[in-house]
Amino acid sequence: MAYRITDDCIACGACAAGCPVDAISEGDGKYVIDAETCIDCGACAGDCPVDAPVAE
Ligand code: SF4
Ligand code: SF4
Repeated sequence: MAYRITDDCIACGACAAGCPVDAISEGDGKYVIDAETCIDCGACAGDCPVDAPVAE
């Protein structure tokens, strides 16, 4: 299981700064999570101003 960032992302970068395993990078118009690296900690969901990271 991993987190995924929805299209609600406004590319603020807050989640990438807080990810303990550096799984989040800037993509095309939004940030993206590398599912192989994500350890499912949920920090990104807590840091995001628009609730774009979702567990799946
Ligand atoms: Fe990084 Fe945790 Fe978010 Fe996964 S759930 S992308 S490990 S902050
Ligand atoms: Fe996108 Fe939320 Fe991450 Fe900001 S914190 S880059 S809005 S997912």
